[in-house]
Amino acid sequence: MSSAEVARAFRFFETDAEAITDEHIRICSIPASPFGEHERAQYLSEKFSSLGLSEVEVDDEGNCLGLIKGASLSPLMVVSAHLDTVFSSDTDFTVVRRENRLLAPGISDDGCGLAALVALAQAIQNEGIRTEGSILFVGTVGEEGEGNLRGVRYLLTQGRWAGKVDAFLSFDGPGVDRITNRALGSRRYRVEITGLGGHSWGDFGMPNPVHALGRAVSRLAAYPAPKEPRTTFNVGRIEGGTSINSIPRKATMEVDLRSAAETELQRIDAFFRRAMKDAVEDENATRRAGDPELKLRVDLIGERPTGETAADSPLVELAIESTKVLGFEPRLDQSSTDSNLPISLGIPAITLGAGGASGFSHTLDEWYEPRNRDKGLKRGLLVVLGMVGIL
Ligand SMILES: [Zn+2]
Repeated sequence: MSSAEVARAFRFFETDAEAITDEHIRICSIPASPFGEHERAQYLSEKFSSLGLSEVEVDDEGNCLGLIKGASLSPLMVVSAHLDTVFSSDTDFTVVRRENRLLAPGISDDGCGLAALVALAQAIQNEGIRTEGSILFVGTVGEEGEGNLRGVRYLLTQGRWAGKVDAFLSFDGPGVDRITNRALGSRRYRVEITGLGGHSWGDFGMPNPVHALGRAVSRLAAYPAPKEPRTTFNVGRIEGGTSINSIPRKATMEVDLRSAAETELQRIDAFFRRAMKDAVEDENATRRAGDPELKLRVDLIGERPTGETAADSPLVELAIESTKVLGFEPRLDQSSTDSNLPISLGIPAITLGAGGASGFSHTLDEWYEPRNRDKGLKRGLLVVLGMVGIL
């Protein structure tokens, strides 16, 4: 806080607020649906180059990277935000300004995080802040939904920086008080039940995949999920059938299981698997002699580990102190973000809000309000410089 360069960077976040918002709008106007992040990654990598970052690249998974090298490569801290949104490729990503708000799908989650990456890199470069360790800026792919953290997983387990990262920070969403140091674990499944099908009248008695799916949903819905540690389940999508008077050949559903504790996640996971088997067996037990059995297939389509960066670890303590020094009350919380992956690898990791406020995340009405964005950027800068050290 007493460094002249840091004071200049703080002023930059205030005086250039409008330019930072313009950049935010440029980034979010580039479509980035799941598995369709390339154009946005390309844009961000050009931005990194223009700011003088080194080792700039879009890696084999699609993440875009740029390094600010300090006196030494280590400690190496990753500062990241995710490129992807939850919206399909036919979505209109045009950003609309209405009074003090920006409206667009993904404008907050995680457009404001990406804007923070650029603003931080710009402040460090332009104000001539020299660091002891190095900072690797990363726009990650595949944070949302079926992306299943593929970007951060590649970065930390396979890419050229794997094994070299000492700390990890993700900017995700708005705010200045939240410090996500605990990773919310989840398992996601696709369930498919198939059979021979037939005529609703003529073949009645043939086991019915939709009926079996109904039994399966009913069994899962009866799960006594504990409030503490918070544990949840959701059947988010079901599909299947041919016509009203046909016994269908196929029914599918997608299921999301989450828990704040790994033991509870394993417990609901085991219950779920058993419930699926039992439901299909129940339906098969009703079949006519000689009819073929229904077949059940359960595919794990997503898995996020549970874990935490200790509240008394240097990274979390630094985030707490940085929040307080800016006049905010820090709030530790648990969420499912890119930080889940480094936490599972034993790398200290937190997710911070990037300042400002937002609403209706993951809907087409998503909005972001840049007021107080500078506070989030200042906090982020303090955490990063605190970890890598300033010369
Ligand atoms: Zn996000």
